Amino acid sequence: MLKLSSDISEIKGVGPKKAAGLNSVGIKSVIDILRIVPTRYQDLRSALALDKLSGVDFGLFKAKLVDLKVNHIRKNMAIVVAQFEDHKTTTTARWFNKKYLLRQLVKGKYYYLTGPVSLFGGSYILVNPEVEVFIENEPLPDTLTPVYSSNSRLSAASISPKSLRNIIKKLLEVIDWSASFSFNNQHQPFKKIEWAFKQLHNPVDLRSADKALKTIAFLEQVLFQIGVLERRKKLTQTYEESRTCRDFEVDYDIPFCLTSAQKRTVNEIASDLLLNKSLTMNRLVQGDVGCGKTMVAFICMRLFNEAGSGQCCFMAPTEVLAWQQYNSFCRFFPEQKNNAAILTGKHKQNLKVNNNSIISAYVFGTHALFQDSVRFENLGFCIIDEQQRFGVAHRKCLVNKGYNAHQLLLSATPIPRTLSLTIFGDMDTSIIDELPPGRKPIKTRIVSCLEQVADDVIKTVKKTNQVYIVCPLIEDSLKIDKASVMATASKVEGLFPDLKYEIITGKTDWKEKQAVMQRFKAKKTDIIISTTVIEVGVDNPNATMMIIENAEQFGLSQLHQLRGRVGRGSDSSECVLISPSQSECERLQILQKTTDGFELAIEDLKMRGPGDLLGTRQSGLSHPCFSHSIGTEMIQKSRKRALEILTKTDKTVRDWFVVQMKLSFGDAFESFMEGG
Ligand code: ADP
Ligand code: MG
Repeated sequence: MLKLSSDISEIKGVGPKKAAGLNSVGIKSVIDILRIVPTRYQDLRSALALDKLSGVDFGLFKAKLVDLKVNHIRKNMAIVVAQFEDHKTTTTARWFNKKYLLRQLVKGKYYYLTGPVSLFGGSYILVNPEVEVFIENEPLPDTLTPVYSSNSRLSAASISPKSLRNIIKKLLEVIDWSASFSFNNQHQPFKKIEWAFKQLHNPVDLRSADKALKTIAFLEQVLFQIGVLERRKKLTQTYEESRTCRDFEVDYDIPFCLTSAQKRTVNEIASDLLLNKSLTMNRLVQGDVGCGKTMVAFICMRLFNEAGSGQCCFMAPTEVLAWQQYNSFCRFFPEQKNNAAILTGKHKQNLKVNNNSIISAYVFGTHALFQDSVRFENLGFCIIDEQQRFGVAHRKCLVNKGYNAHQLLLSATPIPRTLSLTIFGDMDTSIIDELPPGRKPIKTRIVSCLEQVADDVIKTVKKTNQVYIVCPLIEDSLKIDKASVMATASKVEGLFPDLKYEIITGKTDWKEKQAVMQRFKAKKTDIIISTTVIEVGVDNPNATMMIIENAEQFGLSQLHQLRGRVGRGSDSSECVLISPSQSECERLQILQKTTDGFELAIEDLKMRGPGDLLGTRQSGLSHPCFSHSIGTEMIQKSRKRALEILTKTDKTVRDWFVVQMKLSFGDAFESFMEGG
């Protein structure tokens, strides 16, 4: 008998070679194998007769092989052609490049064939069906039969889907479930786990299979949340989220009223900083472009510093942004100018240093801030703008320059709750879900080429407003047929000989970039042609037209970010999505319908998967517990259950879960949470 935690090498049928293969893809114990989810199920009991071929697009048939041959079409293309018959009908099955079937299939035997049906030369045939031999005298299974995909993970372990099925089938017969949960094994949840694993791989019907998958995904999510809560505890000294939160008076002389979402966020942050003193804040602020995250951060910096709690530093991902933030801080709070400083790779300004340590109260800067040589006298509060541009290691470097310094991350990428509760589950989150008043909605339309909006560009510039054109490439490429900055520049010269344009790409030197942006802000240029480098933070309220070439290349969230570069002033703005591909327009139309970043993020998650939303944070995301279908409610429930397990159960139960957590996610967990 085996336990869930037994090593896979103990499984019959898994020799050292297979075990090594499985180990290499992270499958180490029995439970790891059981976690592999079938891609579909088939019911061998309801195999169709061949006379039903004409009625279905895809089906499972049972028939006798009567003939088998191979046609070599070209040098590298062989088609295996087989004739099958049952008592009434015959049909052909064709496979491309599967010559090994010639060795496997035996004339006169019966086979199950599963695959798509096509009309070919007037008759219905099966194309590339899966084949499985029908063993006479063997009773039909009284459950559905699982089909595992031959994905890259399994093929890397050189295990075929069929041998996996056999392994799992035998495995389920030899697991000692009670021994696997050595404590309290009559406890309902553990019975449920047993039921779920059995039903996942041998379901009585599809409903049970679905329920089993949900149960297992829930278990995984609970395990994941246990990891998340342990991490949170390490970082912030507590598992709990709810803390004291009170209203803070904000009576700085700023030129506008905070939105209520900004006020709420200031209260949440300031409460962490100033009331919950034994805690180290680790908080993420999510809010759409233009919602005013910067001002929230500025106010909190001032509250923090004036309470005598230490120095603040504000790190931005680019020189341009760092200067922009520093300059606006000085503009909003002129009396603090002397206390504010900036440090970037190339420049510093106003930086006050004593004994090799920075003593300025408010320090702005770029990556240069976390260099080894930089020291702070008493750093207490770090703000990281556009946090997705920094790795966790970078953030840590900065935060470690203080002692238990508080950390505030700003992100303009709204992340659906499902993802946020998992990958950012070790942090507290504030959401700014409101834009400052008076913003005019940005009109969004889809066209097929730049020429179509040429007149509108001219009109915009005549009104003394300005235009951005964003392209996916810097230079034309033979391999990728997409608009480039360079090609667009010559197009612009032809279309608008009287307009002034400038170029910004990732290759533009930072000084030049800054000069270009300054000329743009000073209205010396009409058009900026750039790659997505302008996505981050750039603020010019006079720009009212955003044109995006090959918009279909980008995720909806990213397009939404780009669109957020306009609509920042009092003039009405528009966003033009250029896409020659009609088929992609449907996806792009979502942008016309909504300006809600969260809604768009959910669409992206559905259509493009999580990697797109998270940039580099991709590893481990194929785990079943991240599937979008799991839903926010279930994640919240699992979070609650995890908290109960950690705080209210017997040590034995708790330990089982903690061990399972490690087995389930292993080292991948930390590196995943760290964005590696
Ligand atoms: P983001 O959240 O994208 O970083 P910013 O902080 O750059 O947004 O704010 C966008 C613009 O809105 C800035 O010019 C800022 O001064 C302005 N702003 C911020 N809060 C308010 C408010 N409550 N009312 C009016 N304008 C505001
Ligand atoms: Mg910003």
